[in-house]
Amino acid sequence: MPVAQGQSSQGALNAAPGNSLPVLGDSARGDLSPVLERKLGEEIMFDVRRDRDFLDDAPILEYLNNFGNALAAAYPGARGETGNDFYFFCVRDPMLNAFALPGGFIGVHSALLLAAQNESELASVLSHEIGHVTQRHIARMIGQQKGDALMPLAAIILAALASKAGPDAAIGVFMGGQGLAIQRQIDFTRDAERESDRVGFQIMNAAGFDASGMVAFFQRMQAATKVYSDLTPPWLMSHPLTSERISDIRERIRAMPFRQRIDGLEFYLVRSRARVLQDESNQGRVEAQAAFDSQLKSQNRQQQAAGHYGLAYLAMKRGELAKAAEALARARATMKPASGAVFSTGQSASDGAAMFASLDLEIKLASGQPPALAAQTAKDAALAHDQFPLARGIARQYADALIANGQAEQAASYLREQVRQYREEPKLYDLLAKAYAAQGKLTLQHIALAESYVLAGAVPAAVDQLGIARKAPDASFYDLALIDARERELQTRQRDDKKEKKER
Ligand SMILES: [Zn+2]
Repeated sequence: MPVAQGQSSQGALNAAPGNSLPVLGDSARGDLSPVLERKLGEEIMFDVRRDRDFLDDAPILEYLNNFGNALAAAYPGARGETGNDFYFFCVRDPMLNAFALPGGFIGVHSALLLAAQNESELASVLSHEIGHVTQRHIARMIGQQKGDALMPLAAIILAALASKAGPDAAIGVFMGGQGLAIQRQIDFTRDAERESDRVGFQIMNAAGFDASGMVAFFQRMQAATKVYSDLTPPWLMSHPLTSERISDIRERIRAMPFRQRIDGLEFYLVRSRARVLQDESNQGRVEAQAAFDSQLKSQNRQQQAAGHYGLAYLAMKRGELAKAAEALARARATMKPASGAVFSTGQSASDGAAMFASLDLEIKLASGQPPALAAQTAKDAALAHDQFPLARGIARQYADALIANGQAEQAASYLREQVRQYREEPKLYDLLAKAYAAQGKLTLQHIALAESYVLAGAVPAAVDQLGIARKAPDASFYDLALIDARERELQTRQRDDKKEKKER
């Protein structure tokens, strides 16, 4: 399946037996190279991450990435010839939609996360979007553009995201206004969509999901449309449930063994968070509370636990910390196996322990807690970090707890080690800056902030921070040398970027 960079895209398509799809690339110009595609995606993500509707929530991001990457990993070749890592994220949006950006970045709207009733349903949409990436549909579309159209394209995608009108945004947008014959665009979409359905299906199968959830979910989305408005959910607008599509999917389901799969508790807990974060107005909170209250009446323990967890998170957001702690204790108690029953049959089934521990710390670190508790919280955080070393949110909470407990020096040395290990987490540098600030180390504080800006794609702001660091009274000779060297590096990078943009 892999196709060498810059060559015709025919190989990827013709690899499928009996495939009669048209050639989607231009062999003379070739696809957008994987490196350039990733770069374009990263540039778009810099802006997406700054958008206030980007759900910058550690447990949600961790869940989506564990879940989505497990899907992709189950299917050899999912990363296609690009070999790019996938990155999944959630956007606050009431429309049912999911979309793939260039470079393997896949976004899910909060409403879609809430509409999915189980992990198989979520998997059906994510697998389809992974299919678009795997088959390089976006890269092929961009590859057909003239070189100088590249940068405006990033802006077009952003505009589409901002307008929230972009159905399956990246794909949809590239279709319009680029001078391609309309008929051909429509044919192309249908083929690309069919191809993504096929790949998505294979992913679902390989990852052990019940693919019959696919049809049920799509049909429910369509039904919801009729009830609420005359607007078709964007995802269905770009993925219309034609009878052809349904029979295609049904045909594939028939060929597959039935699977029983137990969902991980995290799925339900993450939905509780998304429900709170989706609408933080008073009205939104009242509605979230009602939804959690009704979940408590469910016969399903996972639903009950998610209800208690949601009430705990909501109470914390309202500053009712004692109430939050109580509700969290109830959520945990709900999931304690009564008679040796454990939720561990499914591949991703789990007891939500890391998310419980993380919310526990969140409540303990919330403002309004008596300072006398800081020492105990730091101990709890160390314990949780030992227990769940891979939970990135807990790692940052641990650093935060150390700073709150006056152990800024220890926090700084821990964070310096963390930034070496996790090179793409701007928040680690923000915390490092906080740890330095707590020690009154101004130069180091601003150097750390500069690195945070670099990772967030804001190089000019980073250079500004280096300027402030240089003027700080505690700047040593060694610091100044370091600042100068870093500044030169960043300026060179800025120049190269500009040149590259002109060239392509
Ligand atoms: Zn699609």
